[in-house]
Amino acid sequence: MLALRCPRCGADLPARSQQRVFVCEECSATSMASGRDGEGFMVLDRILVRPLQEFDRGERLFLLPVWQVMQRGGGEFRIPAVGMGQMSLVLAMAQRMTAIATAWSVWEPSLDLRRSAADLHVEDAYSLAEVVGMRLQDPGENPPVLGGARLLDWPCVRRSSQTIELVGGMATSGRLLEGLSPVARGPELMAVAEVDLS
Ligand SMILES: [Zn+2]
Repeated sequence: MLALRCPRCGADLPARSQQRVFVCEECSATSMASGRDGEGFMVLDRILVRPLQEFDRGERLFLLPVWQVMQRGGGEFRIPAVGMGQMSLVLAMAQRMTAIATAWSVWEPSLDLRRSAADLHVEDAYSLAEVVGMRLQDPGENPPVLGGARLLDWPCVRRSSQTIELVGGMATSGRLLEGLSPVARGPELMAVAEVDLS
């Protein structure tokens, strides 16, 4: 197996076999192979999404990596980039996150929140967006024409056995967050919430 290096600082990247989007432990850059063949690595911007739903003092915040795939002529697909071992769950969540078109905005909290690596290359996000598009459209409608894509970090909490996403307030299986670590908890999170969400 090829050694992977951060395109920004040259440090070795931690490589799990399923991983397609990497986070450098040295400089925090997010990177991805330029194409499916794994040739060439590029640094990705990540956009942190502002929570719009309430959360409690005791809860821990997770950031779910989500590909935002633009649809030409308006609209966007939202494809979770983790949980590839549970594709039906990911597809169902992608369909619901896309169909409930709650607008999101950018969040720039005073606290530095660590971002997660992800399993889904953008090329595969396009493939899943096409599937979601076909599921959501009326019979006889033309398939969606896809535009650019960006990597979002979507705020979520886990409540009992469920994942709650904090933009539209949708609930899905807690298994969606398996493999992700919480980025903040308790008082830390409330300090951010009081400053940033008021
Ligand atoms: Zn680096």
